[in-house]
Amino acid sequence: MNIEDTIVAISSAVGPAARMIVRLSGPKAIALLSQICEQAPTEPGAYRTPVRTPPSLAFSQDRSSIPAWIYVFRAPKSYTAQDLVELHLPGNPLLVRLIVEDLVRRGARHAEPGEFTSRAYLNGRLDLTEAEGVAMTISAGNDAELQAARQLLSGELARRLKPIMERLAHGLALLEAGIDFVEEDISFISAAQLRARLDGIEQGINDLLQNTARIERLSHEPRFALVGRPNAGKSTLLNALARHDRAVVSPVAGTTRDALSVRIALDRGMVTIIDVAGLEAVGYDPHGIHAQMQDRARRTIEEADFVIQVLDASEDDAPLDLSRAPDLIVRNKSDLALKPRPPGGVPTIDLSALYRTNLDVLERKLSALAYGLRDSGATLALGARHLQALDDSLASLTHARSSIDTGAAELIAHDLREALDALGRILGQVTPDDVLGRIFSSFCIGK
Ligand code: GDP
Repeated sequence: MNIEDTIVAISSAVGPAARMIVRLSGPKAIALLSQICEQAPTEPGAYRTPVRTPPSLAFSQDRSSIPAWIYVFRAPKSYTAQDLVELHLPGNPLLVRLIVEDLVRRGARHAEPGEFTSRAYLNGRLDLTEAEGVAMTISAGNDAELQAARQLLSGELARRLKPIMERLAHGLALLEAGIDFVEEDISFISAAQLRARLDGIEQGINDLLQNTARIERLSHEPRFALVGRPNAGKSTLLNALARHDRAVVSPVAGTTRDALSVRIALDRGMVTIIDVAGLEAVGYDPHGIHAQMQDRARRTIEEADFVIQVLDASEDDAPLDLSRAPDLIVRNKSDLALKPRPPGGVPTIDLSALYRTNLDVLERKLSALAYGLRDSGATLALGARHLQALDDSLASLTHARSSIDTGAAELIAHDLREALDALGRILGQVTPDDVLGRIFSSFCIGK
């Protein structure tokens, strides 16, 4: 990837906005700015300076300019570690596109997706996991994902990995030193010491695997199944939740009338709520339609992350016999005279879907069920790439261990290097040479 040319892109969200941002990064960023701006700044800072109307918009007499804020960053003190210019322009997509085209005609290149961040990485401003954090922050769909992204961005994974890598590199260095001195029969690490060291390293990796969540799981949108007898008020409740806050993203009618779902925005992320009708006992069913509906309803319940049982609390409405216990019972129609609560350990909320009383309590409960367990900001989430590398590293360590008894130091060293390489891949370090170099320089082997 060429990082020596100058790239340009619209870096604000697509769509109507008060301001739009054009970003330029590379050696020609400052020169290009001077071509489109009367008094182009060159020093780092923020400037209220107009830019020239792009030629394709400037009619012969109309030489008017466009008001803009211009932010100048000089290498290496910028996001990409290159000269970087941001133009904050009025939010007119056509105008902004023409300015970008103009800059391309003058020698900039359209940036590839993620290219500003990849420059930051290639120039050593971010490690790979931090770069992944940037991408994840942009695409985060819920609070948990955002927190995980923040963790990656803050370099938490690197912080946890580095001590493990240094221990491994240190062991490797000792082993290699022994190989160098094999003639003199000097050993720097005994088999028992090496084994103990490998134990510690494997333990470190396993701890990392156990105390982290999966990024993929965080991006899964929690699904709630709403079950209850006919007339308990499921549809009314679904509508109340959907209209409340006008937060409905897409009311989706199921392929049949037995499932109707809505996506709603809770305070910490989106969830899907599915109205599961058709569970009730079937009577005369010559075409097997009810039986099919029941099957489908049961599947929906099994696949849901949480089950909410809706009861008509003004009647003696006993809970339905479900294949799994509900996570929450909603006693609806609290505006009418209520029957006493049946005993039972399932969390229960009284509310009126029709009059929308206590809906906020329900929403808080849903949010806690869906996202509450991931409350601690300390959860570090790993993606498939990280897990693969950790697994590879463990496999190499296991292999190294099996060579200890045969005493082939070169083979063990080879495996340790592979284990170290695998961990280095997570952070985007292709070679462990820098870790090794640091370790070697820190202790004297008298050579
Ligand atoms: P579903 O069959 O479970 O989907 O039930 P519906 O949502 O169709 O509601 C059945 C009936 O109960 C309708 O006449 C609703 O207006 C009524 N209903 C629903 N919620 C309430 C409530 O909170 N209070 C009262 N009084 N009636 C309700």
